[in-house]
Amino acid sequence: MIELKKVTKKFDTGKAVLTAVDQVDLSIADGEIFGIIGYSGAGKSTLIRLLNGLEKPTSGTVEINGKVITSIKGGELRKARQKVSMIFQHFNLLWSRTVKENIEFPLEIAGVSKAQRGKRVQELIELVGLSGRENAYPSELSGGQKQRVGIARALANDPEVLLCDEATSALDPETTDAILDLLVDINKRLGLTIVLITHEMHVIRKICHRVAVMEGGRVVELGDVLNVFQSPKEEITKRFVAQVT
Ligand code: ATP
Ligand code: MG
Repeated sequence: MIELKKVTKKFDTGKAVLTAVDQVDLSIADGEIFGIIGYSGAGKSTLIRLLNGLEKPTSGTVEINGKVITSIKGGELRKARQKVSMIFQHFNLLWSRTVKENIEFPLEIAGVSKAQRGKRVQELIELVGLSGRENAYPSELSGGQKQRVGIARALANDPEVLLCDEATSALDPETTDAILDLLVDINKRLGLTIVLITHEMHVIRKICHRVAVMEGGRVVELGDVLNVFQSPKEEITKRFVAQVT
């Protein structure tokens, strides 16, 4: 379970102090696919970065599976962070490494033996549907295939939570659907919790169980996806729902 209590993140730019995330309370259940939607600048990426310890909150606490990650550091924090993986809009692959080598990278860092790495990489390649492309370079892959590599790499060390920051925003609609299907498959098969950020409501409708709507650093609406679609309360939520109806 992921539990945020009164989480605030401020950035001091020298000229002004900007509140990117403002007093957010949130709890996300194990195995849930949780969506966060909002316009540009709403604080979505900052919020998700707080979940994997990439940002430290100015105040408030972040707890992941019983560990308050905001009050640990060093090796303990590194270990907790290994349980939370992330995929990105622009994939963030290593361009000079093949598919296989990209997926192997986090296993190398974790000190897994060569024999075990080979076996694990093969499993992951099959899981994400990239068999036959092991030795290709990222530049030889389609956008959807690149994101499959990103997903396989993110899963290498058996995380409990997968964070997706606009993971389908660079993809065409059909490829987006295929990647979302893969995320659902992974969620079901591995029981992985998925937290997904998007500005596209159809992505939320297709795979999320619950959704939080963010505006100005705050969660302004939260509920089951079906309920939010049927009776959106806030003006901003109505606008998002109108995108797809
Ligand atoms: P987008 O949809 O464009 O990705 P977002 O909802 O992910 O937007 P954030 O990237 O979380 O929004 O940004 C929220 C606010 O915090 C913005 O006003 C942004 O400029 C500011 N911000 C984010 N990171 C920093 C930083 N490192 N330093 C200063 N300001 C920042
Ligand atoms: Mg963002």
